[in-house]
Amino acid sequence: QTELKPTGNKRKKVVIVGSGWGAMSFLQKLDTTQYNVVIVSPRNYFLFTPLLPSVPTGTIDQKSICDPVRLIARQTPGEVQYMEAAVTDIDPHAKKVYIEHKSDRLTIGDAFINDNEPIRAELDYDYLIYSVGAKVNTFGIQGIPEFASYLKEAQDAVAVRQKLFNSVEAARLLPEGSDERKRLMTFVVCGGGPTGVELAAEVKDYIVQDLSKFIPNLENEMNVTLIEALPNVLNMFHHKLIEYTQQVFNSQGVHLRTNTMVKKVDARNVYCTEKKADGSTEDHVIPYGTLVWAGGNAQRKVTTEFAAKIPEQTSRRGLLVDEYQKLYGVEDVYALGDCTFTKNPPTAQVASQQGHFLADHFNKLSKLDDLKFLANQEKQPEQVEKLHKKIQRTESTLLPFHYEHQGSLAYIGSERAVADLSFFQWSTVSVGGNLTFLFWRSAYVSMLMGVRNKVLVTTDWIKVAIFGRDCSKDN
Ligand code: FAD
Ligand code: NAD
Repeated sequence: QTELKPTGNKRKKVVIVGSGWGAMSFLQKLDTTQYNVVIVSPRNYFLFTPLLPSVPTGTIDQKSICDPVRLIARQTPGEVQYMEAAVTDIDPHAKKVYIEHKSDRLTIGDAFINDNEPIRAELDYDYLIYSVGAKVNTFGIQGIPEFASYLKEAQDAVAVRQKLFNSVEAARLLPEGSDERKRLMTFVVCGGGPTGVELAAEVKDYIVQDLSKFIPNLENEMNVTLIEALPNVLNMFHHKLIEYTQQVFNSQGVHLRTNTMVKKVDARNVYCTEKKADGSTEDHVIPYGTLVWAGGNAQRKVTTEFAAKIPEQTSRRGLLVDEYQKLYGVEDVYALGDCTFTKNPPTAQVASQQGHFLADHFNKLSKLDDLKFLANQEKQPEQVEKLHKKIQRTESTLLPFHYEHQGSLAYIGSERAVADLSFFQWSTVSVGGNLTFLFWRSAYVSMLMGVRNKVLVTTDWIKVAIFGRDCSKDN
């Protein structure tokens, strides 16, 4: 990487940690000719999470929502390096990150190279952009890590599909009406946030619209249950849309169990407690064949350990940042997205706006840095004065981050979606139904990062409309 810019000033090194919404949105808008950029992430692709709930059912192919980091880097001007590794530690005083590569173990073959002994390295940075996202919050509930699947990463979607098929095919060998057959035919989703609602809706669609054509009577035998601790699902939506969603679920035969808190799971059952309207409680045991946990976010270990080194980082819910996304308590480290704790929700919309904002901020910082460098080199007093005026003008353009909520969208099944749309700051329109579904689809296509993914996703929808969804176990 070239050390000097055309001005003669040093080209600073930006290390971007992560390849998700925050990190890739930052890269998208950064003037990469002004910085040396290194991306570090164990996941070598960007994942378009809003369409992940469509992957287990095969409505969308997994690859259609994955955008390789190397492809993104190649399309970016200047020199952008990528290292497939996880950050394990950060020393903000020495300005170093410690990274580790572990090869994924393959299920078939023996192609991993360093399963037991990770390869380790360290990187220096001038600026660190930390955007490692969050992990799934299990709240320490017994049995979830061992027996439940999640819906966070692309491989989770594949695992959910395989479990669904394994359960259904195994159940078909058992006598009709037997308890074990009923158990295997039960798909349980815990957590009625948007992830859980969208997954339950997609699975129900798949059973009704496609699988029942191949597996007789599946529509009547298969049970999709959604368990939510609070009185309603989709709590961030307008109450009319919550009611609408609950009506659609009832008419589609998705079993909603609200006011029901999961307490424990084992290999066959979910143990939960329902809070009744009169304040009393009742315990339930719900047998399942496939179980997905969608209980929300928690911070990753690397983030909590990093925060623990900095006295100013006092929140357990995420990294604290100022209005420029700069971390409290350390110099030259910025954080984006779900690893931060701010007044904004942990969404792709927030992470991407933060990423775009920070890139713009960095483009200005680079300009400022060059002006200061030139002012220091300059001998002529009137030229120095001119440069100082330019510095002041550029500094006055460094404005704080301001989040603009564009609305919330969720798919709720049978080609219907709900949308809380914000128009500027003065009006919110809440709509739901088939037209909203078309809007939902077009909005997501426009949000996909590259032309390649827009084409792939649109083609997947057309294929499903013509041929139906695929019913083989592996996508
Ligand atoms: P991520 O996008 O999660 O990226 C984190 C990155 O860091 C990943 O590349 C990961 O591999 C990498 N990483 C992890 N650990 C390390 C490490 N130790 N070192 C280096 N790199 C590391 N939001 C919306 O606004 N609209 C939606 O419709 C929507 N739908 C969603 C659907 C699902 C199923 C899910 C799970 C989430 C959805 N979200 C949605 C939320 C949205 O995906 C997140 O808010 C967003 O991904 C946060 O961006 P991020 O960059 O902080 O984290
Ligand atoms: P979430 O935090 O939004 O919802 C988790 C749900 O699980 C909550 O309703 C919670 O009450 C419930 N829960 C927690 N513990 C429970 C227990 N023991 N028993 C029963 N229920 C329990 O999580 P999510 O849906 O994964 O979403 C994470 C983030 O991603 C959110 O910010 C969300 O807005 C965003 N997201 C947005 C979309 C969209 O806009 N379409 C889709 C998916 C995710």
